[in-house]
Amino acid sequence: MAAADETPPYTISDQALSDMVAVADLPSLLATLAHVSGDQGLIGPDLRLDATKHHEPQGGWTPAQQEQARTRAVGALTAMRDAGWPSPPVPTAQSVRPIIEWMMDTEPSHDHVALLLEELGDPARDLRAPTWRAADIAPGRQFRVAVIGAGMSGLLAAYRLRQAGIDVEVFEKNSDVGGTWLENTYPGCRVDVASHLYCYSFAQRDDWPQHFSTQPELLDYFRKFAADHDLLSSVRFATTVDAMTWDGGDEPWTLEVTSDGRTSRERFHAVISATGQLNRPKYPDIPGFGTFAGPAFHSAEWNHDIDLDAKRVAVIGTGASAAQFIPIVAEQAAQVLVMQRTANWLAPTLDYHDDFPEGQRWLLNHLPYCSQWYRFWLFWRYAEGMLPACHVDPEWDGQGHSVSALNEQMRLMLGMYLGLCFGDRPDLLAQVMPDYPPAAKRILRDNGIWAATLKRDNVQLITDHITAIEPSGLRMADGMLHEIDVLIYGTGFQASKFLTPMHVTGRNGARLPERWNGNARAYLGIVVPEFPNFFMLYGPNTNIVVNGSIIYFSECEVHYVMQYLRHVLGTGEGALSCKQDVHDAYNVRIDEGNKMMAWGASDVNSWYKSASGRVAQNWPFSLLEYWQQTRDVNPDDYEVIVA
Ligand code: NAP
Repeated sequence: MAAADETPPYTISDQALSDMVAVADLPSLLATLAHVSGDQGLIGPDLRLDATKHHEPQGGWTPAQQEQARTRAVGALTAMRDAGWPSPPVPTAQSVRPIIEWMMDTEPSHDHVALLLEELGDPARDLRAPTWRAADIAPGRQFRVAVIGAGMSGLLAAYRLRQAGIDVEVFEKNSDVGGTWLENTYPGCRVDVASHLYCYSFAQRDDWPQHFSTQPELLDYFRKFAADHDLLSSVRFATTVDAMTWDGGDEPWTLEVTSDGRTSRERFHAVISATGQLNRPKYPDIPGFGTFAGPAFHSAEWNHDIDLDAKRVAVIGTGASAAQFIPIVAEQAAQVLVMQRTANWLAPTLDYHDDFPEGQRWLLNHLPYCSQWYRFWLFWRYAEGMLPACHVDPEWDGQGHSVSALNEQMRLMLGMYLGLCFGDRPDLLAQVMPDYPPAAKRILRDNGIWAATLKRDNVQLITDHITAIEPSGLRMADGMLHEIDVLIYGTGFQASKFLTPMHVTGRNGARLPERWNGNARAYLGIVVPEFPNFFMLYGPNTNIVVNGSIIYFSECEVHYVMQYLRHVLGTGEGALSCKQDVHDAYNVRIDEGNKMMAWGASDVNSWYKSASGRVAQNWPFSLLEYWQQTRDVNPDDYEVIVA
């Protein structure tokens, strides 16, 4: 590619501009140029983005349309360069509405525009920052908040609390920030949500090197976020919160915290648990567990001291984690036995491991708002856009294989991909073809590496039942013993056990997690009756399967918590407790919603369900709806607790 300047005013040749456009994402580039130049003609009806083709490369445009888009983009970029790269206008609801409408291929509602404007983000302003300060609305009132966990959600909460001038103390069990991105260091670990979406809306990074970020890249992002905003001074590392108790006094929550072997008690006005859903490894309940004589470890507790070179390795599990590390383990080990209980649907993602092409990276990094519109386009296509294919059609008879005509279409498409990957190995194809509806479990991203790995001479896919773990290996249902040197558990997390192993005691002796009896429920996934001023981030029913990034949910949740605190501080009230009937009605709706989604309707096992089979993790509705529900606190949902 022809060279381009890295610093303004960017002297770029026509050829360089043309080379960049040749590798750019065209719909988001035209949206950017329409915004920056104000020329709405760039996104005229002849280049309509047909919603039914949104998921296709370049929005499903024909080669001729793509050529037309490139010509327009080069023209607009050349004009901008010749004009000395004029400053772009600040995006407003009015100015972005036509562009959003063009991208969505439908008229957006008022709320849609407001949400999408926030998601688009503005490098110059933090659109979701609290617009109030504690000192202004509650002068002289002491208010301290404890945040448990310094991962993605905990850091966000600490940041927002600081912005509002509220005292915050973060307790983190590890010695560093990053949570899941600190703990999961297995080889090949990366996020399966596009990089530009998997970051805070108000702290976007334009220069992500890869389409899907690796674990070290994400850990750096969260470390940098914490350092840049001076959050580290509020974090107490290597400190666990063992228990917390509501006693109704002035600082009604007492936390029992342990650090350096010493336990102390500390009091707070409110507590935010940001401990996540996927932070406690789950080991399989296979007879003989723990008896294997060789090294054995879980994907989230990778033992980097074990050299896998020339070893016989068995991996139990083929979920998102295992699918990432097995290909790398297979390159080192003498033999890898892949123990699969349930096959996974794979989403073809050719650029899964790829760097952004240099030209696209330059545009994302230097053209104002290019990265924001790229994020917006990802958000729209992969968030709400995928949801309809997960809805159950009660009239549809998919015989357990699909839940609607759209879901069946997705099944055929994903089945075709598996057919392409494993066409030369019908034996493997039969083993890897799922027999449940797409989206009933997490769909894994794949760039062909899964098939390439399973076809290796040193890899064997085993779908028989493991009856026992023995000192020398794995005993199978047919009596065969697979002798191995190393055993790796890719068996996931205790996702249903919210708050475990903490003990939380609320009003009237109510206890969590015991009160849930294995079925965690909360209002908005955030608050629980009898636990005033206690909040959960990434709590019950706030996980998403196909639509978007979990960071979106954390931003909505933290916004709601801040609105709650604003209310409590502004009214002078001590604490609020969510009304039981509000909580119950909400959860009835959640349960009904989940039953009408592929992951709730199918009886396939997944970490989305608790032991009783209830979907305790997932949010069944649109992202817009969660945003709407967490916009404001309705005081009628709460009773005021008088200290
Ligand atoms: P997981 O999806 O829960 O997968 C666990 C695997 O272990 C499954 O294949 C499961 O089989 C198997 N397993 C569990 N107990 C077993 C037993 N007793 N016998 C045989 N097999 C057993 O866990 P994960 O792979 O760690 O992923 C969890 C979630 O973390 C993902 O869904 C995703 O949300 C997140 N994650 C994301 C990324 C990413 O962004 N790329 C990477 C890793 C994780 P069954 O399917 O039959 O239950």
